[in-house]
Amino acid sequence: MTAGSSAECDVGVAGGRVVQMGGSLRGRRVIDASGALVLPGGVDMHVHLSLPSPPVPGTPAWVDDFASGSRAAIAGGVTTVGNMTFPWDWQSLSKAVARDLAAAASGSAVDYVLHPVLTSPGAEAVAELPGLAAAGHSSVKLFMMMPEFESQIDQVIAAIALAGRSGMLTLLHCEDGALVRFAGSQLLAAGRGSVADWAPSRPDSAERAAVERAVAICEATGSPVYIVHLSSAAALESARRGQARGLPVFVETRPLYLYLTSKVLAEPDAGKYIGSPPLRESADVETLWRALADGSVHTVGSDHAPWSLEAKTDSSQDVMTARQGVADLETMLPMLFSEGVRTGRIPLSRFVSLVSTTPARLFGLFPRKGTIAVGSDADLVVLDPQRHRVIDGAAMQSRAGYSAYDGWDVHGWPRFTISRGDVVYEDGEVIAPPGRGQWLRRAGGSHTTAAAHLAAP
Ligand SMILES: [Zn+2]
Repeated sequence: MTAGSSAECDVGVAGGRVVQMGGSLRGRRVIDASGALVLPGGVDMHVHLSLPSPPVPGTPAWVDDFASGSRAAIAGGVTTVGNMTFPWDWQSLSKAVARDLAAAASGSAVDYVLHPVLTSPGAEAVAELPGLAAAGHSSVKLFMMMPEFESQIDQVIAAIALAGRSGMLTLLHCEDGALVRFAGSQLLAAGRGSVADWAPSRPDSAERAAVERAVAICEATGSPVYIVHLSSAAALESARRGQARGLPVFVETRPLYLYLTSKVLAEPDAGKYIGSPPLRESADVETLWRALADGSVHTVGSDHAPWSLEAKTDSSQDVMTARQGVADLETMLPMLFSEGVRTGRIPLSRFVSLVSTTPARLFGLFPRKGTIAVGSDADLVVLDPQRHRVIDGAAMQSRAGYSAYDGWDVHGWPRFTISRGDVVYEDGEVIAPPGRGQWLRRAGGSHTTAAAHLAAP
């Protein structure tokens, strides 16, 4: 099954690549996929397997690294990840990239790319972008809600223009920082600053305002933008208006927004569900599902950012300090299959496009990744639609030890995961050594040509 076609045939693999499809085949090993679906491996371009700042003893931080995170990926059918790489302590972007390349080289069991994060758009950091693109790192991430974004907005726009000219895709976290800080301080002043009020502390108006600006920056600079984890109908409407004008505005959503609403924040352990933007309302959820089907949302990325349950439910947090992010690498594909494909909300071909083919195209990895074709890497998931499992985060590969979906009955799990021809998941076991993953050099500008291929689903 690919995003464009399906067939019942044997797939021949040699030297880590697909070498034959159909016809008669014989091999050293035969994997029986009867009753299951053979899909291209998941391409999750939004994960956090390295810390945003150096670890401080005694202070909670994200709990997965490239080793444990890539095991979670494998168990969930994801064979390529894109990691957000933050400079530490005013490190240059190149230093940060070198640091994470070394960590991933020894830890990652799946293939990977890095997205350098431009935390502060000073002249030196911005000047690094063309060199990073030339070295094969053709994406850059910015957080619109950071104070540095607003205070250096002229440099930010110049940086995004340069990124586009260098063939980079610009990833944007779209929330307006000033509006978010205003909402949070109002709630705190009114004595309503607990994490239960996380949703009103980051209203969809703040997300919409940021998306409007992202679209305007795209229009002004001509640089393609990729809006990470879009959460609301209001923000989607803004992105769609840009898309309707033919602008290269690409949209990712994340699993959290497809399955949960702000209602769960009334639970005593609301901290479990904190991410930003926050959970929205059921009308937003329905809008996002329709957008997955109609093509105005292009990809689903996990935004895997795992904390321990203890750190997430620590009662000292408030709306300004709550720890953001959840573990989602192992659950992303099975849940989207179970809740999307099985229910008929999205066709199987669209599922493949959302979690594999389109991210591979946008990030310059296609056709090596994102499809099953002769010459492509043999990254395959044998997904068994009958296999069901009740989610229990404590039994999963992430060190988070819990899942935001604990107790959900999910149908459709990998029977095998194959990465460059290696069987890395079989019989419920991850069998991949750390460090077997490879960094993927990307050509600049591939997303601009990819845009032309991103016709209606
Ligand atoms: Zn993220």
